[in-house]
Amino acid sequence: MRRPRILIIGAGLAGTSTAIRLLRFARRPLEIVLLERRPDYRYAGVAYHRDGNPWDHVFNIQAGRMSAFREDVDDFVRWANHEADRQHWPAPWTDFAFVEHGPAPRRIYHDYLTDRMAEARREAYLGVDLTEAEGEAVDLSVHTDHVEATIRHIAGSDTGQTSTLTADHVVLATGMELKWPAFAGDVLAHEAFIRHPYSTDGVRRLLATPPQASVIIVGTVLSAYDSAALLLRQGHTGTIHLVSRSGATPRAYPGHHQHGVVQLPVPARLLEPYRNREEFLARLQTEWAAACAAVRNEYPEVDGMVVTERVAKAWEPHLPMIIDRVPTDELRSLLDDFGTQIATFRVGAVQYTTSVVEQAMSSDHGCVEVVIGKVEQVEPVGASRLAVTVAAPASRRVILADLVVCNFGRESDYTQVGSPLWRNLLAKHLVTPHERTGRGIEIDDRGTPLRPDGEPIIPLSAIGVMREGDEIVRNGRSGAFAFNLAAIKNHSIVVAAHLIERLELHCVGAAGRAAADRCRALAADESTRPAFEEAVSLEVRRLATRSRDERRRLDDRLEAHLRSTNIFPASKTASKTASKTAGKTASQPDGPGHLIRAAVNQAAVKRLTDISVTPRQLRRQLRITTDEDAEIS
Ligand SMILES: Cc1cc2nc3c(=O)[nH]c(=O)nc-3n(C[C@H](O)[C@H](O)[C@H](O)COP(=O)(O)OP(=O)(O)OC[C@H]3O[C@@H](n4cnc5c(N)ncnc54)[C@H](O)[C@@H]3O)c2cc1C
Repeated sequence: MRRPRILIIGAGLAGTSTAIRLLRFARRPLEIVLLERRPDYRYAGVAYHRDGNPWDHVFNIQAGRMSAFREDVDDFVRWANHEADRQHWPAPWTDFAFVEHGPAPRRIYHDYLTDRMAEARREAYLGVDLTEAEGEAVDLSVHTDHVEATIRHIAGSDTGQTSTLTADHVVLATGMELKWPAFAGDVLAHEAFIRHPYSTDGVRRLLATPPQASVIIVGTVLSAYDSAALLLRQGHTGTIHLVSRSGATPRAYPGHHQHGVVQLPVPARLLEPYRNREEFLARLQTEWAAACAAVRNEYPEVDGMVVTERVAKAWEPHLPMIIDRVPTDELRSLLDDFGTQIATFRVGAVQYTTSVVEQAMSSDHGCVEVVIGKVEQVEPVGASRLAVTVAAPASRRVILADLVVCNFGRESDYTQVGSPLWRNLLAKHLVTPHERTGRGIEIDDRGTPLRPDGEPIIPLSAIGVMREGDEIVRNGRSGAFAFNLAAIKNHSIVVAAHLIERLELHCVGAAGRAAADRCRALAADESTRPAFEEAVSLEVRRLATRSRDERRRLDDRLEAHLRSTNIFPASKTASKTASKTAGKTASQPDGPGHLIRAAVNQAAVKRLTDISVTPRQLRRQLRITTDEDAEIS
């Protein structure tokens, strides 16, 4: 029988982690095609590729939060200390001991993902394979049981030509879309303008900037800090202006910071009707101040720098209810005005980067100045300089610069994106711009894009930044937190599990919903709950296990458990089919036995992606703690 094929478009973090999950989760033969249009971005994407990330560009967050696997929180630090090939690493990294709360260079993430992908391929079941493909997907035609992808070739004698690849399912993992910097339309090719600071050329020009040059960086958050820190580390003395509308700058985490979650009550006054924006913002301020005070009083061990992060995280479960009461226009304008600030409350940065910039901001050593206002225009002044017009509410200022760095990156409004793929998907109504926020696309809770009439496009899934609007209204996550590593980790688990359910268990649409109902019923009924819990616990461990043999053992135990319990006698049929066909052929729809397996899988996925606890608490909760955890924590 033909094995199903899944095409993943984009091999950055989102595409890579979904492919790894599929390689681990699949029990029947499956072909995964991982398509990437930029060979240097494979297993890295814009954030971690080597050419655009010199050694001093460290992760925005601590190394201990960079594991690609939520259920194995120490995986990245362990890899960096014990597995990474450091032969070609420069000082100070050659002998660096990586710790949970410390920095790590972003570029080594490429090696980490490459290693973990190689392991997942080695440890996949027989017939479960990954194919690396190069090219740009420019269009999709969706049929009832398959999708045809049009792919433009990017290398070889047929460069520029297209061909068609047929797949049973397509995952969109295309990452950030670039925003057109309308204010700099006349200077995009100017020698003094860097549009892509994370490119080989951008980094080369930053490193070649004379120390006394006057520099303007558009943006004041983490990517702006990367460029500023790069200049300062090489002894820059000329003025560096960081310009943004909010002026919000990142906070650094305290030395031994550990991630944590606190419980706070719903900010009740934000649920009450309000007259206008001013009243809403005033209440928000009052509730926010009260919540920060509560954290300071009730959790005295929490460092002052982390209080806003704890509050922002604790409010996330309440935000969907609050957002639901805010009219659409208002919601969009609040997100435009406060998105950056919310992001800086919600996540901090590592001192490795912030300390260099903060020192240069202080009055004693200062050559870095924050300018609050909107960049209106960048114009050439002679052959080598640029004039930047910055408009603040009460003033307008023109600043001359030898170099302007544009960190004005992301287009969140998908009606404005330039990529042929997204333009075609929108034109065919295969995706719908997110109605409430104007950010990203409409999506359901399992990552399936929705048509304008609300119907899910069953053979498609989406992971990453295009889900920003949905993350905001569904999970209360905003700013960069809607699409960073933490969000992508969860998306990849949910989507990979959903695809396996669809392709192996044939549970889709009504059958998928029936499995969800079954799941709730088994968990609620006292007579079935203990057996169901045991099944879910085995499934969680199977999904989290890297070794094929161990996964097979857990799978067999789960099948035996389902056969021996009273929770669903009809699962006997399914078990027989599963053990006969595992690793050899795809099974046919097999009635209720498949439903119970899907129900167990759905419950396991819910546990693995529970964001109300920290990853470390999650491990303990899921009973996958090891001796090593005890040592590290
Ligand atoms: C400079 C920078 C630094 C960051 N640092 C951190 C950090 O330290 N920690 C953190 O948690 N988050 C960080 N982030 C957030 C980051 O965006 C996410 O962590 C994550 O890397 C995004 O991954 P992605 O796969 O969704 O997107 P990308 O990494 O953008 O990958 C998408 C890939 O899809 C490819 N692609 C797009 N369209 C097509 C097509 N039509 N056909 C074929 N291929 C296509 C692209 O070439 C690209 O390689 C950073 C972001 C940036 C920009």
